[in-house]
Amino acid sequence: MRILLVEDDALLGDGIQAGLRQQGFSADWVRDGVAAAHAIEAEPYAAVVLDLGLPRRSGLDVLKSLRQKKNLVPVLILTARDTIEDRVTGLDAGADDYLVKPFDLGELSARLRALIRRAGGSPAAILTVGALALDPAARTVDYRGEPRILSAREFDLLHVFMINAGRVLSREQLAAALYAWGEEIESNAVDVHLHHLRRKLSPGIVQTLRGVGYLMPRDVR
Ligand code: CA
Repeated sequence: MRILLVEDDALLGDGIQAGLRQQGFSADWVRDGVAAAHAIEAEPYAAVVLDLGLPRRSGLDVLKSLRQKKNLVPVLILTARDTIEDRVTGLDAGADDYLVKPFDLGELSARLRALIRRAGGSPAAILTVGALALDPAARTVDYRGEPRILSAREFDLLHVFMINAGRVLSREQLAAALYAWGEEIESNAVDVHLHHLRRKLSPGIVQTLRGVGYLMPRDVR
């Protein structure tokens, strides 16, 4: 899952980005409010980790304007000041969750997974689509009741398809959902990972709609 991290503190930002990657997220990192607003408009993030005290434009301002534009991306705010007012203002402005610095990276990851699940309409910890069951925390997949071993990229691709089951996704949308800026992407990367997924699971888990994109049926068998 691709996350946007907005944090102006270089040391903290570096640590959070590395921690998110370790937990299996792809994380883009911007350091001010203007860059954050641009990135959120341009890329399909699964969630945003937003510091409130930022140069150029405050985190609260970025949050308010994206909610005004009806952008519903899950947002977790970070606040250095452990004051009730900050948190209340952030939540009232449309944040979905918050953490007070300093925080544990494992807790941040768990909260992001919960936000992404809820945004996908599934409050359960295990995501299921027909015969597929995926555990985002343990990063395990069962198909027809049997555990299957997938590479990190295959797992991420399957996760994107399962969250969007019943919806057609273009190759560009899939690539944008999977890869952070600066990551090396082969032009046919999505096709290669999909090929492996179909081989390891079943050819029918994802349909190819020629010239349009790809579709995971809601009743994968
Ligand atoms: Ca800050």
